[in-house]
Amino acid sequence: MSFMNRIIVFFMPLVPKPIVRIFSKRYVAGDTLEDAVRITRDLNNKNIMATMDVLGESTTREEETGLYVQEYLKVLQTIESEKLDCNVSLKPTQLGLLINKELAFSNIKEIVQKAKQLNNFVRIDMEDSNCTTDTIDIYQKLRNEFDNVGIVLQAYLRRSIDDLSEIAREPANMRLCKGIYIEPREIAYKDPHLVNENFAFLVETALKAKSYVGIATHDEKVVWHALRIIEQLGLERHEYEFQMLLGVDEQLRSILVNAGHRLRVYVPYGKQWYRYVLRRLKENPKIAMYVIKALFKRA
Ligand SMILES: Cc1cc2nc3c(=O)[nH]c(=O)nc-3n(C[C@H](O)[C@H](O)[C@H](O)COP(=O)(O)OP(=O)(O)OC[C@H]3O[C@@H](n4cnc5c(N)ncnc54)[C@H](O)[C@@H]3O)c2cc1C
Repeated sequence: MSFMNRIIVFFMPLVPKPIVRIFSKRYVAGDTLEDAVRITRDLNNKNIMATMDVLGESTTREEETGLYVQEYLKVLQTIESEKLDCNVSLKPTQLGLLINKELAFSNIKEIVQKAKQLNNFVRIDMEDSNCTTDTIDIYQKLRNEFDNVGIVLQAYLRRSIDDLSEIAREPANMRLCKGIYIEPREIAYKDPHLVNENFAFLVETALKAKSYVGIATHDEKVVWHALRIIEQLGLERHEYEFQMLLGVDEQLRSILVNAGHRLRVYVPYGKQWYRYVLRRLKENPKIAMYVIKALFKRA
């Protein structure tokens, strides 16, 4: 990251919320499930699938985790009644992982169970490296009972190839992404080229092991490697999908969809939008710069 970008990232949390809110519209469907349904329907009309995410993480009160469970059950029921092409993504710390692992397990199980009844699917997002082992444990335990649950592995983590080999012993459905948290060099690759190389290595290993892979990236170099591997392995369209975040590189999204690839967009919604949007803006200092400019204009 350049010096200027570091400065922008450093100052982002100081920008008043109303300004950040303006820019959140790009990345967040809205505050309510109705907003997420509207965005998902628009995507479905463009032949794009979705995964809904109820914003929230690092929950510290057990009662609050129960509210998130209820919201996810409502989301699944709504997807069914609105006939949307959409599954759900959730975060273990939102559902109690930082309180205790058993609580997170039973909360996630309730959601997976409901999804199973409705013939739907639950993706367990991957958070920072303190959560990796517990998240994989929860996934493996659920996988013994359910076939409608999937996991995420991050290409920047040195351990991911071992985790992948273990997980892919059974037919698995995994999202692969670069990884978004700040991790020390001992456990994560720091060189972006190496992260890309590792991403391609994971995609190839997972697809060869017959896993269904969600290739989650907006980096065209990674997309190119994935397409090369898909071509070399002679895969059918239903054996993988591309995944992108709401509001990011819609042009690349169209290129992939028009070429006939399956593509799913991550549709976050909810009142806890602030942390999510800050993270997105930190990832893209170009947009963060517009936020800072808006701030000075207002002043
Ligand atoms: C569907 C999906 C699910 C994800 N789930 C997880 C998860 O569970 N755990 C996790 O750690 N990470 C997750 N991520 C985030 C991921 O790890 C990366 O941090 C993020 O996708 C950026 O990496 P990239 O591969 O797009 O490459 P980058 O090199 O970061 O980006 C490539 C290009 O995409 C564009 N771009 C990237 N981000 C933005 C942005 N915010 N705004 C505008 N343009 C942008 C830029 O033009 C950039 O040059 C997920 C990403 C996606 C797409």
